[in-house]
Amino acid sequence: MTDHDHDHSHSLLELRQVSRHFGSFRALDEVSLTVRAGARHAIIGPNGAGKSTLFGLISGTLPVTAGSVLVDGKDVTRLPVHRRVGLGVAATFQHSSLFMRESVLENVLLAVLRRAGKGLGGWRKADARPKELARAHALLERVGLPARHEVAAAALSHGERRQLEVAVALATDPRLLLLDEPAAGMSPAETARLTELIAALPGEVTVLLIEHDLDMVFELADTVTVMHLGRHLVTGSPDEVRASAEVQTAYLGSVEVSS
Ligand code: ADP
Ligand code: MG
Repeated sequence: MTDHDHDHSHSLLELRQVSRHFGSFRALDEVSLTVRAGARHAIIGPNGAGKSTLFGLISGTLPVTAGSVLVDGKDVTRLPVHRRVGLGVAATFQHSSLFMRESVLENVLLAVLRRAGKGLGGWRKADARPKELARAHALLERVGLPARHEVAAAALSHGERRQLEVAVALATDPRLLLLDEPAAGMSPAETARLTELIAALPGEVTVLLIEHDLDMVFELADTVTVMHLGRHLVTGSPDEVRASAEVQTAYLGSVEVSS
């Protein structure tokens, strides 16, 4: 039976000793992690630490080798992606999943229609109700793309594509938004805009962010987890993580951190 209190101190996501092996290689080794509802939680760590693999286990694109994944106290370990989306888990991926030939508006509208339970077969912009169109426009406004709605997704800049991906993810009404290196390849101006966008998301949307741009991480995050070689190293406040000697050697020591 599930009977949760919906205050902002309960854990929205809980990973219990999740492992993911590829053959004999342990990409993730018994990682446990709790993400509080309403958190702005960042995961950092060098390339190959297992961060994207971890997101795969959370979103359901990748099955666990061992361990369990709980969303709002419910065990979702064996649930397929779409069932997890139904529970409020939304991901944007390192490799874009946009429909490049469709317009910006159509990309968001498609996600809005899907959320409303309308199938993909033969959908058209003309089939959308005014309410759904309005919601798509509102989402584009939220991510800062209102003027680009008629442009094909392929014509967007790299940064704009990332903004559109966030709009598509928000269309599913997520409670947990997974962002995998959203600032990768962005210009400083685009990164700044994206940081503002994420900071402005409503508190009901819990954000779990993988990011290499540590300035962005330390600006946004209230909680930071450091991973290294498939293991959970430390989770704490940004200050605690910055101060951790373990982190210094494993990660920050090899990366320039501006203060
Ligand atoms: P990160 O996102 O932290 O850079 P990943 O989760 O992408 O790390 O990868 C963690 C490790 O798992 C890496 O060594 C990577 O090569 C390996 N890996 C990821 N996916 C696969 C796969 N499908 N098959 C084999 N090895 C994989
Ligand atoms: Mg990755």
